[in-house]
Amino acid sequence: MNEWIPYGKHAITDQDIEYVVQALKSETITQGPRAEMFERGIAETCGSKYGVTFNSATSALHAANIALGVKKGDIVWTSTISFVASANCAIYCGADVDFIDCDINTGLISLKELGVKLENASKINKLPKVIIPVHLGGSSCDMREMSELSEIYGFHIIEDASHAIGSTYDGEPVGNCRYSDITVFSFHPVKIITSGEGGCAVTNNVDIKNKLSTIRSHGIKRSNFEFESPGDWYYEMQSVGFNYRMNDLQASLGLSQLERLQKIIRERRRQIQVYKDLITDIKEIRIITEPIYSKSCYHLAIIQIMNITKRNHSKLFKYMRENGIGVQLHYWPIHLQPFYRKLGFQEGDFPNAETYSTTSFSIPLYPGLTGDSQKKVVQVLGTGLGTI
Ligand SMILES: *Cc1c(COP(=O)(O)O)cnc(C)c1O
Repeated sequence: MNEWIPYGKHAITDQDIEYVVQALKSETITQGPRAEMFERGIAETCGSKYGVTFNSATSALHAANIALGVKKGDIVWTSTISFVASANCAIYCGADVDFIDCDINTGLISLKELGVKLENASKINKLPKVIIPVHLGGSSCDMREMSELSEIYGFHIIEDASHAIGSTYDGEPVGNCRYSDITVFSFHPVKIITSGEGGCAVTNNVDIKNKLSTIRSHGIKRSNFEFESPGDWYYEMQSVGFNYRMNDLQASLGLSQLERLQKIIRERRRQIQVYKDLITDIKEIRIITEPIYSKSCYHLAIIQIMNITKRNHSKLFKYMRENGIGVQLHYWPIHLQPFYRKLGFQEGDFPNAETYSTTSFSIPLYPGLTGDSQKKVVQVLGTGLGTI
């Protein structure tokens, strides 16, 4: 029987275990000092002023939309090549979601498509309030150009950097929010570093930071009261919030993993180079690499197969899995999900994205993946291409 090589996997060290045990033996196992240390660590890592931890990136994205005032009747745009949470977070707020087509070679939002779409939307008075770019696989979108558009058309930007902690844009860390209002990271176990489940929103704006903290915890404030405090027990709920907190057990794991972020990224980048070297012999395939302006943490190793039909793409995907290679699609376009089709989206709406998702898939990449396994992945790719 073949061993199964997944497309991604978390790695836990003795230090990770030690940190979590320390947290378990401490006074606070709910959100406490470790969650605070973790959010400070994340903010420092990406050069932003404030970090606010959440129990997932999905809740951080939801809170980010609320903090920017997204409500019923507003319009939010995101990439259709993403995980559904990038769009759902605006649906939670009652907003109307629309998508931006991608660059066919990278899967990232196409700035050209965005420019055209904004111009058209402006004519019919349907401009978005927020745009959520997605740094697919760890490669940053072109944020400078997007931010220039945001000044012309007046939208906010939330970066969905779930894949991109430790990546850079223009030589600066993703998450410094130079070109955005808020950046969100995910610490789900399949991502670059993990806290079991968890997320963090970073920002340079103190008002936004305060809003995010309040939304995270039921909408409750313990200072700055609107009414006179009748006693020390007093707290105020001024708006509806959620219980979206990260606890200290999760944060302790995140803190330990954060300490070796650079080491993890070096290992991922080394593995990408190994794939590049191995794949040079297969002319039909290319690894999707970082754009010139971004250094990627390589959350994913995505390959693209030239001139492959939709049917052969499915066959190759199936062949890989049958032969023990846990390939995965990142992503089936969000607008083709049944829920979004019911809102009126259909096949053909975003043709580049549809082509991208039927010519690409992710191959295994994670700390601990051996050179032999990488060779096997490429060998199965080669034989697979020969049989379809
Ligand atoms: C994983 C992921 C999310 C959601 O992250 P969670 O922490 O699991 O909620 C959102 N957007 C993208 C692009 C993701 O990959």
